[in-house]
Amino acid sequence: MTAPIRTDPTTVRVALDARSYDIVIGRGLLASLGARVAALRPGAKAVIVSDENVARHHLAAAEVSLSQAGIAASRVIVPPGESSKSYRVFEQVCEAVIGSRTERGDLVVALGGGVVGDLAGFVASVLRRGLDYVQVPTTLLADVDSSVGGKTAIDSAHGKNLVGAFHQPILVLADTALLDTLPDREFRAGYAEVVKYGLLGDAGFFAWLESNWREVFSGGPAREHAIAMSCRAKAAIVARDERETGDRALLNLGHTFGHALEAACGFSDRLLHGEAISIGMALAFEFSARRQGLIPMAEAQRVIKYLAEAGLPTRIKDIPGPQLSIDHLMDLIAQDKKVKRGLLTFILVRGIGQAFIETGVDAREVRVFLSEKLAER
Ligand code: NAD
Repeated sequence: MTAPIRTDPTTVRVALDARSYDIVIGRGLLASLGARVAALRPGAKAVIVSDENVARHHLAAAEVSLSQAGIAASRVIVPPGESSKSYRVFEQVCEAVIGSRTERGDLVVALGGGVVGDLAGFVASVLRRGLDYVQVPTTLLADVDSSVGGKTAIDSAHGKNLVGAFHQPILVLADTALLDTLPDREFRAGYAEVVKYGLLGDAGFFAWLESNWREVFSGGPAREHAIAMSCRAKAAIVARDERETGDRALLNLGHTFGHALEAACGFSDRLLHGEAISIGMALAFEFSARRQGLIPMAEAQRVIKYLAEAGLPTRIKDIPGPQLSIDHLMDLIAQDKKVKRGLLTFILVRGIGQAFIETGVDAREVRVFLSEKLAER
């Protein structure tokens, strides 16, 4: 018997003409995966791509749902972690999907966090010149960020996400119960991306998070609301600027500082992506206040205090391990893709919820600022 489609989830539409799709958000939605896929692509077969951790907890339920809807499904399981966004694993997944006799009308189901979503999405973008795929995010970061917007990629020896494509999914199914098995540190890191949406464009949402974050962490309706608000914000920006020629760069609030810190830590467990973004956002607010005079310092302090209260790192000195070097950080910032004609581009703020793209930031100002922050140790 086909599992019924629940009637109470929240649906956010990503409006991209012929490539439009729904993000469906709610607790317990995985049981409806098969029915939803069958409704969208009658007769299609599916290949589920997942990682070992996620598969242990959630693969069986995904397979049961597809099978109950009469969908033949095979699976490809990759090791967990960023190292699976490699040419080697990409090739293995491509060969496995082709080997499962996939045809042009079949589809890929990405069941996992951002790593699986980016990898499986990229596989789907190139196989048979483009297969459909469905995102079933299993981390908070994937719910609110990586599963939405169609950026897919693997990593190159020269840097992260350098080999990729824009390829929109046909559906994002965000079952908030899947986060119950996520390690606490991963949930918290993903929460930095939720806070980002308030900080970049919605002061009211930030204020709501200040009062309700504990309920978001514990699950239930507040979690769904936070994910839906984040997805609405991302969907609106992606609909305006699918290929990041303008406004989509606002989503990079905290990312110029954050990426440099993440890279300096070797993209390791020393500093998770969301943790780096938390420190990056704290630095972007403080830089906007102290070096650019755009906001009162009290506004930056409100943000920093809040991120810390939610258990996120906010200072470079919160990063464990050896001291980072200013020269290395400045090199990493200069290599960042947001550099144009020698000037640094940063996402700065005129207040909470008022981020903007500043293309002419003086690198010397940044160096002075970061040197001070490094000296805080
Ligand atoms: P991840 O996919 O590596 O997942 C984090 C860890 O949690 C892994 O060990 C995974 O196995 C485990 N896990 C995932 N879901 C679980 C669950 N429900 N229960 C138990 N364990 C679970 O990391 P992530 O933070 O989700 O994604 C990071 C990746 O996302 C990076 O590669 C980054 O480049 C990418 N990203 C992409 C975009 C985009 O727009 N495409 C945006 C942001 C980040």
